[in-house]
Amino acid sequence: MKKKQLIFLGAPGSGKGTQAKRLIEEYGYGHISTGDLLRAEVAKGSELGNRLEKIMQAGQLVDDSLVFELLKKNCNLASKIYIFDGFPRNIEQAKVLDKELLSGISYQVLYFDINPNVLVARLVDRRVCAKCGAIFNLKTMPPKKNGICDKCGGDLQHRKDDKEEVIRERMSVFDSTMRPIVDYYQQKKLLLQVDATLSSDAIFSKIIEALK
Ligand code: AMP
Repeated sequence: MKKKQLIFLGAPGSGKGTQAKRLIEEYGYGHISTGDLLRAEVAKGSELGNRLEKIMQAGQLVDDSLVFELLKKNCNLASKIYIFDGFPRNIEQAKVLDKELLSGISYQVLYFDINPNVLVARLVDRRVCAKCGAIFNLKTMPPKKNGICDKCGGDLQHRKDDKEEVIRERMSVFDSTMRPIVDYYQQKKLLLQVDATLSSDAIFSKIIEALK
């Protein structure tokens, strides 16, 4: 498989993080999640981190320039192939990404398509390992021991923004901003649509097939 930079688009909970993890483990991609970069800033407890936390807990988008600053600091596109996970989040970010970070670099966009009501149910039950980032679901993929990661023994956490009212806000932000991004990449003939209601294994096979 000839690797290209990949952009994963999909609502929170559409399964893009799970697929990204697998591609990283099995095919050696780098991973850039703007959500993770922002959470790392919040964890520092800096003044900036505290401001970010308020925006994120309300399910709103963080300022574009700040997201780009974090991205530039944390990725090296000249030497590594990445999966961009959760980025771009609006059409302006997509255009700046094209102009500033990906100009002259070939890339492909995968869109994880799913009904919003299925998503709310998934996210309310989602638990994420604080140590290794493994993702579980209390109903469909429960850990063997309550609250403990099967892979590394770390603590499983329910993200503060995975509460139902915040999820609804994140979905509405997502709906109003994602359609233009999907159209933008479709026009550029870079978009590959994935049915995100399929099983995780089926989605993975389809992605590998499509990337060949
Ligand atoms: P995620 O982990 O990707 O679901 O992101 C969690 C939260 O971080 C979002 O609800 C936003 O508040 C913020 N965020 C993540 N990525 C971006 C981005 N590219 N632009 C603006 N805000 C973002």
